[in-house]
Amino acid sequence: MSTPTSTSTPEFLTSALLPVPHGFATRTGGVSEGPYASLNLGFSVGDERSRVEENHRRLAQAAGAKLGALCRVSQVHGDRVLEARGEADDALRPTLGEADGLWTEGEGSWVAVGTADCVPVLLVDPQGRRVAAVHSGWKGTDLEISARAVEALGARGSRPERLLAAVGPCIQACCYEVSPELGDRFRARFGPDVVREGVKPHLDLPRAVKASLVKAGLKPEHVDVLQACTACERERFFSHRRDAGLTGRHLNFVLHRF
Ligand SMILES: [Zn+2]
Repeated sequence: MSTPTSTSTPEFLTSALLPVPHGFATRTGGVSEGPYASLNLGFSVGDERSRVEENHRRLAQAAGAKLGALCRVSQVHGDRVLEARGEADDALRPTLGEADGLWTEGEGSWVAVGTADCVPVLLVDPQGRRVAAVHSGWKGTDLEISARAVEALGARGSRPERLLAAVGPCIQACCYEVSPELGDRFRARFGPDVVREGVKPHLDLPRAVKASLVKAGLKPEHVDVLQACTACERERFFSHRRDAGLTGRHLNFVLHRF
């Protein structure tokens, strides 16, 4: 099969807080078409496999990393966090298994999670030299998977007060209408600020994630919450809710390169 071509390169958002290469990929710079245009990095959403593979190659090149060093998990909206270590070649490896968070202390390895509305969280321990990526939808946020990732790093010696976190593009409160029951549940767990009341309650997921991280020991000023809303910005992001499920996936990655 011939490799599809396009001239643009992957674009991603970054946080000034993180001292290592990382990114929250946008739609720009891939070869997928239709609802997956263009940088779809999800293999299980109905897109052509050869295009998704080419998109991964482009991402690795833009990230300045080896494709074989990319570590991913099969995401299941749980709270399991796995240790990962990549290889120093250019062959994309299968996922590590079912989990929603992963971390590494392997030099040159990079860890990533896929999203299309859910909250991507990247964690860096500059002293202990560990990095982590977390996928936190409403279920994962309810399970406080970000805190589980902080604990996993802590078990290897990372001190929570030294961790740096970036909370990436996701569906924001403007677009995330939820049931009154879910609103009540989150208000009880994370405080009144995580729900905006209107005709229907709207959930502020990144705020809940930040509350989880601070409760786990991170300093509030060490948590950078990006303001981009995946559902608002059709040109820039995939959105599962806006596109009624027929859409691509972003990858959100952080490299172990100190
Ligand atoms: Zn929005």
